[in-house]
Amino acid sequence: MKKNNITKMAIAAAALMTAFPAATTYAQKSTGWGDFKLFLDPGHSATENRGLWGYSEAQKVFSVAQYIKGYLTEYTDMPAENLKLCRNNEVDIVGLEERSDMANAWGADFFYAIHSDASSDKNTTVTLFGGWRKDGKEIEKTPNGGKAFGEILNPNLTGVMRITTRGNWYDRCYYDRAPETHANQYPYLSVNRRTNMASLLSEGGYHTIASQQQLNINADYKRLEAFAAFQSILKFRNMTNPEQTFLAGIIKNSENDVPIDGVTVKVGDKTYVTDTWESTFKKYTNNPDLIHNGFYLFEGLKAGDAVSVEFTATGYEPVTKTVVIKSNPAGQSNDNVTWLDITMTSNAPAKVASISVEDTKAVSLVDPIVITFSRKMDKESVEKAFSIDNDGEVTLTWINDYTLSVDVSKLVPLKTYNIKIDGSVAKNSQTNQPFDGNGDGNGGDDYTLSITMKEADTTPAQVVSTDPAIDGDVAYTLRPVVRVEYDEIIDWNEDKNADCMTVIDPEGNTYAGTLTHSVVNGASVLQYFFSEDLPLDKCFLVTVKPGLADLSGNLTEEFRFRFLSEYRPVVESTDLLPLDNVTGFWAPDGSGSSSGLTQEANSFTRANIGVRPESPNSACLKYDFDPDFAAGVWQIREYHSSQNIDGTTKDGVLTFWLYGDGSNNSVSAALRVRTNNKNGGIKYNLKPINYRGWHLVSWNLASDEYQHFTGTDEIADKWRFDSFFLKHEKAPEQAWKGEIYFNQMQFVKFDDTAVRKAVLHDFSSVETLKSADGGIVVRSLGDVVSVKADGNIRSVNVYNASGAMVASATPAGQTAMVATGNLAGGVYFVNVVADGGIKTVKIVR
Ligand SMILES: [Zn+2]
Repeated sequence: MKKNNITKMAIAAAALMTAFPAATTYAQKSTGWGDFKLFLDPGHSATENRGLWGYSEAQKVFSVAQYIKGYLTEYTDMPAENLKLCRNNEVDIVGLEERSDMANAWGADFFYAIHSDASSDKNTTVTLFGGWRKDGKEIEKTPNGGKAFGEILNPNLTGVMRITTRGNWYDRCYYDRAPETHANQYPYLSVNRRTNMASLLSEGGYHTIASQQQLNINADYKRLEAFAAFQSILKFRNMTNPEQTFLAGIIKNSENDVPIDGVTVKVGDKTYVTDTWESTFKKYTNNPDLIHNGFYLFEGLKAGDAVSVEFTATGYEPVTKTVVIKSNPAGQSNDNVTWLDITMTSNAPAKVASISVEDTKAVSLVDPIVITFSRKMDKESVEKAFSIDNDGEVTLTWINDYTLSVDVSKLVPLKTYNIKIDGSVAKNSQTNQPFDGNGDGNGGDDYTLSITMKEADTTPAQVVSTDPAIDGDVAYTLRPVVRVEYDEIIDWNEDKNADCMTVIDPEGNTYAGTLTHSVVNGASVLQYFFSEDLPLDKCFLVTVKPGLADLSGNLTEEFRFRFLSEYRPVVESTDLLPLDNVTGFWAPDGSGSSSGLTQEANSFTRANIGVRPESPNSACLKYDFDPDFAAGVWQIREYHSSQNIDGTTKDGVLTFWLYGDGSNNSVSAALRVRTNNKNGGIKYNLKPINYRGWHLVSWNLASDEYQHFTGTDEIADKWRFDSFFLKHEKAPEQAWKGEIYFNQMQFVKFDDTAVRKAVLHDFSSVETLKSADGGIVVRSLGDVVSVKADGNIRSVNVYNASGAMVASATPAGQTAMVATGNLAGGVYFVNVVADGGIKTVKIVR
């Protein structure tokens, strides 16, 4: 073909490709495609595998495939009928096996599956071709070719994405690296295993990582990935790559490294405007400050030209840079991308972005006022500019360069104060512009805040929940954690309060354990961890001594409650997961079912608190739902990938310990029902987290109701642990963020034929006290006073209210009994002298 014709054809092709606005028409067609048949498989369908903010893997890889098709059409002599895509729209659902069936039926020469990954905290690529190990040697599936294509594609793709790679792998070796000889001598991945031709699957970064997903959302970023694939295909075919150039970069705010929206980038007569909330991000979030990418791309600039690039944006100083356009068609893909990342500096004066006070007419004396500025502040100048009237005494502390905390605990209740930050004194630290106190866009004016302090708190801390429930039954554990939750923070004094909780039974026996105090989500919880399992079917009395102070010094009264221990003996108990680490779990945003999370504040990590003092670790889920998430679904599927936590009967109870944060979000262990692979799906049994501290979450698989997450089959004997679910439903009482811990998941069977015998005991007839030193315990029950002590008892004398001795006992070692049947009703005092202690106890007959 003559060159003239080639140019004309390229123009025609470009005109048809409306998706190629920036492309030039100087391209030469690369020839030699021949009758090679290429099958492209953009993974998944429609909007499957949603990543952060709801943009899906399926959408991303569909775009990449369309751009590859565009480049092949524009720049090569490939006959249109020699390229087939497994899906040509974003609606149809194409099954996994359907894809290989289509390629096999069509007689493709090569199958390329395009994917994006989930679930890691490091953004990388990987390429996977069919292969396994035998006798220490790797074997590639036949026909060969996947490995060779991967060797070309991997560095090209990784290069233009500017990330790192996990490598180019025989797929079975990637998923099961260890053995000399794999048990299964065939490819691991369906698309490699079921296709009759050479094949490769690539993962282009993670759609669950914010830094990558914000780029994925940009319409043009995916052209770079397509370019890398296109170049690699031509190299694999021994064709000559045409000259293509790209100028690209990311524009960030020099003060905080946040990418900038709406920057106009100009090169000659070409213009690119970076994505804005209005143009792009509002499809994914209602929060204009959540997603930014600052990405721009020009295509088809003349290789070798030194071009001037102008950056302008409202509120920033303009920037101009000169850069020479790179080109090396024979080199790696990224040798054809000229990267120009820049920062721009804001010229907007600093203002107050937010304050922590909701009602300025009723400001807490306990919580500091937190002032957040829009720019990094010159701290010294702000402190100098800060004033408060009415002899107010406050302390200023900087949380970071943007955030000032004002301690108001010394201000007077009900009094009104005016806080001022002088705009002629305060300035930001980066550009030293005067502070814009009234937020009108011009610096130099004052910030003023009038606050009226609340009445002082005169109410002591109140108990809002307990575990076990007051007068309640313990179910499914022999070792409950006694949990007493208050409505505010207790000013805990470890020395004074360490023994403030006791647990006794009707015989006066005490139950040893460890008491802890924790502040969870702004309120205190006391927890008592028993050293041993409790006896079955018994009544217990919990006593919290009076005198616990809140932050304003108000003291609690004594608090007591009763509960009945579990009455059914354990028949069988299986430890499903100790949950003292997070091995096998994905990151919270790793599952495509996780939705509505903010960018970075979510994690699943090992924590050093546990439900048993002897195994002090658990798994901690930190979560932060995004109130502005446009799709309005907030959930975490905390997925466990090891896939071997199976049940073979539904005749039992699934339990796990959850350390609640009082968030009122709902939690569940989700199970996968496996009797019918088609409809089995995932089931869960959500429970509200309306408590702080450890609580046993239970699901009686045989009798409790549950919900279907996917699939319609009911829970049956064959099931598998799939994940923990956390759900937020935008109810006003539900917190958007928090922290919960998981521990000791078990499957337990109890003897359901057992009968409850214990009743709630009237402990008022049991006056029991134990001295710290002698271990003396005196109890009055019916017509008998019984005495126990740690050492030998020397004497037991009973006195009446006027001090006369009315009864005594002859001790025998560490116990003694006094008959009191002949005493008249009234108050008596029992005095005990024992080795190691003396104690006088008041009893009422
Ligand atoms: Zn995928």
